[in-house]
Amino acid sequence: MEEKTMERKAEEKTCPHVLIFPCPAQGHVNSMLKLAELLALQNMNITFLNTEYIHNRLIRFNDSIQALSLTYPKFQFKTIPDFHDEEKHPGFGEKIGDVIMSLSLNGKPYLRDMIVSEVPKISCIILDGVFGDLVTDLASEFGIQLIHFRTISACCFWAYLCVPKLLESNEIPIRGDEDMDRIIRNAPGMENVLRCRDLPSFFRENKHNLSLDKLVVRTQQSFKANALILNTFEDLESPILSQIRLHFPKLYTIGPLHHHLNNTKKTTTTLINSNLFQVDRTCMTWLDSQPLKSVIYVSFGSTTPMKSEEVIEIWHGLMNSEKRFLWVIRPNMVQGKEVLLKELEEKTKERGLIVGWVPQEEVLAHKAIGAFLTHSGWNSTLESVVCGVPMICWPFFADQQINSRFVSEVWKIGLDMKDVCDRKVVENMVNDLMVNRKEEFLKSAMEMSKLSCKSVSPSGSSYDNFQALIWYIRSTNP
Ligand code: UDP
Repeated sequence: MEEKTMERKAEEKTCPHVLIFPCPAQGHVNSMLKLAELLALQNMNITFLNTEYIHNRLIRFNDSIQALSLTYPKFQFKTIPDFHDEEKHPGFGEKIGDVIMSLSLNGKPYLRDMIVSEVPKISCIILDGVFGDLVTDLASEFGIQLIHFRTISACCFWAYLCVPKLLESNEIPIRGDEDMDRIIRNAPGMENVLRCRDLPSFFRENKHNLSLDKLVVRTQQSFKANALILNTFEDLESPILSQIRLHFPKLYTIGPLHHHLNNTKKTTTTLINSNLFQVDRTCMTWLDSQPLKSVIYVSFGSTTPMKSEEVIEIWHGLMNSEKRFLWVIRPNMVQGKEVLLKELEEKTKERGLIVGWVPQEEVLAHKAIGAFLTHSGWNSTLESVVCGVPMICWPFFADQQINSRFVSEVWKIGLDMKDVCDRKVVENMVNDLMVNRKEEFLKSAMEMSKLSCKSVSPSGSSYDNFQALIWYIRSTNP
C-alpha cells in the first residue's frame, strides 16, 4: 500500500466521520450542535445536516456555522430540502409532527446520496430519534453504526416506552371527561408520581394530531439502533434510567450537554450560539442594573403559541407580585396582537422588560435572576438546573407536562402551574418562589446544580459516559 494511502487509513481509524441529523427545531438543533462540537473537540470529522430553513436561519441570526467551520477544519455543514413550505406553514409547535413526517417520507434518497459520496466514509450516524427508522436500512446496507439521540427527558422517553403497557391496562388514552388527577400505576419507576395531567400531551385523546400508535412505533424504532444517547445525567433521573437500560443496554447519558461543552472548553456560557431568532442583548445591560436574585425570567421557548388572554393573565400576575421581570415574547408568538404587546411593554417599563429573544444561558447565569417561569422544555429545564434557578412551570405540550411534574414533585426545585392560567395563581407562585419559600427552593436548586456540575467534571457520570461514547464511536470505525 502506498505510504500516503496508509497514512490516510491510519488517520481515518482515529478520526471517524460522524453524520449528525437533528429534527429541525430550536431545542433539537441546540443540543445536537453541542454534542457535535464536543465530538469535534475530539478531532472527529463531523457533518452536521440541517434542513434549508434551519440552515438559513442559523446564517441570518448568528455566526455558529462560520465559527464552527473555522474553529474545526473537519466540521462541515450540509443541507437537506425542507419538503415543506416553512414560510407559509411554519412547522413550529404542534405542526412539528408534519415536518418530521415529510422529512421521513422524502429524505431517504438525499441521505443515501450523501452516504455514498462523503469522503472520508461516514462511519457513524447520530440521528434524532424522532425520525424513527429513517436511516436504519441505509446504515445496515453501508455498514455504518447508528446511534439514536433523544433530546427529551429520560422520564418522557420512558413514558413513551410504557405506552403499550398503559394502553393494555386502560390507563390511557386520556379521554375528554377524564379525572385528570387519577394516579397512573403502570409506569415502573414513576409509580405514585404521575397523574393523568402529568403524562406527555400526546397521551390526551386527539391532542396534537399524533396518534399513540405512531408514537409507539417511532419510539420502538430506536431498539434497532446500535446505541442511544440521552441529554440527562444519572443523579437527576437514575431510577428511570435503570428502567430504560433494561431495554437499551448501550445507553449514554452525557448531559447536561451545554454544560458539558462549557466545562470542556473551560468557559461559563456557550461561546457559539445557535439561535434561530434575532437576539436582543439589551436585556443584559438591564439585568446588570438589577439587585441580586430580584428578577423572574419568563420564557416559553421557541415554539409555544400564546392566546392574548393568557398573556394578559400572566402579565397581571407578574405585575401584582411586585417583582421585577424579564419576559421573552417572540415575534408572532401572540398572533395579530402587536398592539396589545406594545401597550404591555409601555406599562411594564418601571419594573419589567419584554424582548423578542435573549441569550438564555447567559440570562439564567446572571446574578440578578431569582426564578424562571418556563414552559418546561427540556433544554430550558436543564439550563435552569445548571444555574440553580428555581422554576414555575407552565407546560404547553410534548414532554413538558411530565418535566414539570418532575421539577415540582421529584426534584422539588419549583412549582407546577400546568392546566391553569390565572393571575392570582401566578402572583402567589412568584411570591412563594421568591419570598415565602425562597430559601427552601434555592437550597434544593443549588444542590441539584452541584450534582449537574459534578456529572460533567472528570470522574463524573456524564464525563465518563462521554469517554465511553468516544471509545465506542472510534471502535466502530472500519
Ligand atoms: N432560548 C434562547 N433564547 C430565548 C428563548 C429560548 O436562547 O429567548 C433557547 C433556550 O436556551 C433553549 C432553547 O431555546 O436552549 C429552547 O429549547 P427548549 O427545549 O427549552 O424548548 P423548545 O423551544 O424546544 O420548546
